[in-house]
Amino acid sequence: MSYQQKFRLDGERAVVTGGGRAIGLCCSEALAEAGAAVVVIERNEADAEQALALRDKGYDVEVRVGDVTDAARMDAIATELADGGRPASILVNNAGIGQSGIPAEELTDADWLRMMDVNLNGVFWCSRAFGRPMISMKRGAIVNLGSMSGHICNRPQPQTAYNVSKAAVHHLTRSLAAEWAHHGIRVNAVAPTYIETPMVVAVEANRERIPLWLADTPMGRMGTPEEVASAVLFLASGAASLMTGSIVNVDAGFTCW
Ligand code: NDP
Repeated sequence: MSYQQKFRLDGERAVVTGGGRAIGLCCSEALAEAGAAVVVIERNEADAEQALALRDKGYDVEVRVGDVTDAARMDAIATELADGGRPASILVNNAGIGQSGIPAEELTDADWLRMMDVNLNGVFWCSRAFGRPMISMKRGAIVNLGSMSGHICNRPQPQTAYNVSKAAVHHLTRSLAAEWAHHGIRVNAVAPTYIETPMVVAVEANRERIPLWLADTPMGRMGTPEEVASAVLFLASGAASLMTGSIVNVDAGFTCW
């Protein structure tokens, strides 16, 4: 197989959670452009419509409504795809929420639990739901959206809950990789720096923080959603056939300093 062919995903079915906006939308497009049939899981109509607009480019994209914190719904979608004869062979756990700089001492029980529910539990529910058919097929690739915040504690904004949720995603990635390697399933994560998406730029207080972040970044810039999607595509593809349990930094060198 040529190197170019290793990046192709023809005949594969991919699920992208939160795949209708920002990084997730770029992941959906990258996988679809590589030949995969993509199923986007979204909660709201506007994001669903953005995902479905990828069909205008000739891509095979469908949407299922669902919230990743609803384990039963994730099981139902996975079962529906498998019963239809085309289970997902690729899962991108992208859906996640951020935190707008709440000091730890002011975090409510609800703030903490919501963060863990979406960013950690959601990744596990989806991995378990879509991983079961992958175990039956004896093959699959899961790519999780971790973060450099899973490695370091960003400054100046406090974001303990987010950092902890992403560190847990990194270790969940390694744990599932170790457990499922013998089933032919690879599990990896990307750990991006600040990316220009609503999660970051829609937060008013971040305007003042951005120059500080850039001063801490060897490459001196934030990333784009497309740059994250490129790494996700690589990890999902046969080009990464020997990679599992890797947390791939996509961080402009942020974690070097
Ligand atoms: P956005 O907030 O722009 O998009 C997140 C997407 O996830 C939205 O489509 C959102 O849908 C969906 N989503 C959120 N919660 C749920 C849920 N419970 N069930 C289903 N879908 C949900 O985020 P980004 O594109 O910036 O981030 C994507 C991922 O990348 C996240 O996991 C994030 O933590 C990670 N990341 C982002 C970085 C950044 O700088 N932007 C840096 C490092 C990691 P809805 O509109 O319904 O909320």
